[in-house]
Amino acid sequence: MLLLDGKTASAAVKNEIREETLQLLAAGKRAPHLAAILVGTNGASETYVASKVKNCEEVGFRSTLIRMDADVAEAELLDAIARLNADPEVDGILVQLPLPKQISEQKVIEAIDPDKDVDGFHPSSAGKLVQGLPSFIPATPYGIMLMLELFDITTKGKHAVVIGRSNIVGRPMSILLSSNQKRGNCTVTICHSHTPNLQEICLQADIIVAALGRPEFVKADMVKEGAVVIDVGITRVDDPTAKKGFRIKGDVAFAEVAPKTSAITPVPGGVGLMTIAGLLKNTLQAYKQNHAI
Ligand code: NAD
Repeated sequence: MLLLDGKTASAAVKNEIREETLQLLAAGKRAPHLAAILVGTNGASETYVASKVKNCEEVGFRSTLIRMDADVAEAELLDAIARLNADPEVDGILVQLPLPKQISEQKVIEAIDPDKDVDGFHPSSAGKLVQGLPSFIPATPYGIMLMLELFDITTKGKHAVVIGRSNIVGRPMSILLSSNQKRGNCTVTICHSHTPNLQEICLQADIIVAALGRPEFVKADMVKEGAVVIDVGITRVDDPTAKKGFRIKGDVAFAEVAPKTSAITPVPGGVGLMTIAGLLKNTLQAYKQNHAI
């Protein structure tokens, strides 16, 4: 069994990005710049945004974090996005989800300039992805594709089962794996909360991507011998014995599933780190587009 270690894989991607950034700086150009907006003080969102900012610094990017109160009006958030859209010094914009109830996530996603849409959530980016046109790929599926490439996982002709159909993970993942590209050409089955016989379907999978947000949902009796298992799930599960009072659990029961697989991602230390790598790649791409490089 090959452990698809996100630490090694993301370090490789980040090294490449750092090199390219150093070259830009050496040529007298400014650094790529990511602006992140965080609304409220949700613990997990704080952690994700802090990590994104830290990773920007590590590769030599500039980053700006804009914090807004949880009760901020939608119009105020949209104004902040409009300012970032208009700022030529900002290459990529992300608004950390989820947002408080008074704010329409869809409006926010659509307010971001598609040329700065480094999360790849704008309908324009999603439409391009479906049509196989160059676009910003949502960071998590992008990170998984980078991981498949780095570990040389064969996808052509394989049956991939994607569990989850969100716009952020499951659906773009299913599109990428079915696309006519190097790490695509799978036959894809996309499953969701209304899928009957999930176990039967999973047992036919050469590749399983679990993105449903239910801790340890995928058990050994759902996985074929030799399958590749990609665990996207991140759920905080209360654990008074843990330092922080919780543990991070994936969607796969790792201990029992891993021995049956040919390759598997751990949680933590797997897809989460690759998501950041995907975001950094998108930010560099946005910079290059904006500078016509
Ligand atoms: P979501 O809640 O938007 O979507 C979950 C999907 O799972 C839905 O399409 C739903 O139909 C499906 N589902 C739910 N229960 C099911 C069941 N019993 N059987 C089959 N399908 C079922 O979640 P999301 O935003 O796609 O995130 C999924 C998980 O991935 C979460 O744990 C989230 O925290 C994690 N996540 C991780 C990263 C990362 O970087 N590793 C990034 C994004 C999301």
